Amino acid sequence: MLKKGTKLYSIINRKCPHCHEGEFLVSRNPYDLSVVGDLLKECSVCHRKYEPEPGFYYGGMYVSYALAVAQSVAVYIAVGVLVPSSSQTTRLFWVLGALVVLAPVLYAWSKALWANLFIPYKGVQRLPGEDEKWIAR
Ligand SMILES: [Zn+2]
Repeated sequence: MLKKGTKLYSIINRKCPHCHEGEFLVSRNPYDLSVVGDLLKECSVCHRKYEPEPGFYYGGMYVSYALAVAQSVAVYIAVGVLVPSSSQTTRLFWVLGALVVLAPVLYAWSKALWANLFIPYKGVQRLPGEDEKWIAR
């Protein structure tokens, strides 16, 4: 399920969406807040670009929103199941706390997910007729 070549592998491990080997983000630690969500310019392994045009990752906001909603619903249900006597206020604090704590992880995953929606896996070697907008050098 999480083998190299699957989009889930690239998203979960935050690897290059082109070759699934190089790093995608500046820092592997999503809680390195000075560079949270910052992308490298290109893959260090296959030398393809991560951003074909300025603003490419604005759409990642919608992915981040969807992930945050899914996480909030999951936390709300989990607290309700694990502590059935919990009040609505308690569940709300758990939802908000989880959003704050996991925000850097969701942000990193949202960018990786957005990139993987548009970038197919190609492997390390350059393919004949490959789209030039992704080629760094
Ligand atoms: Zn790569």
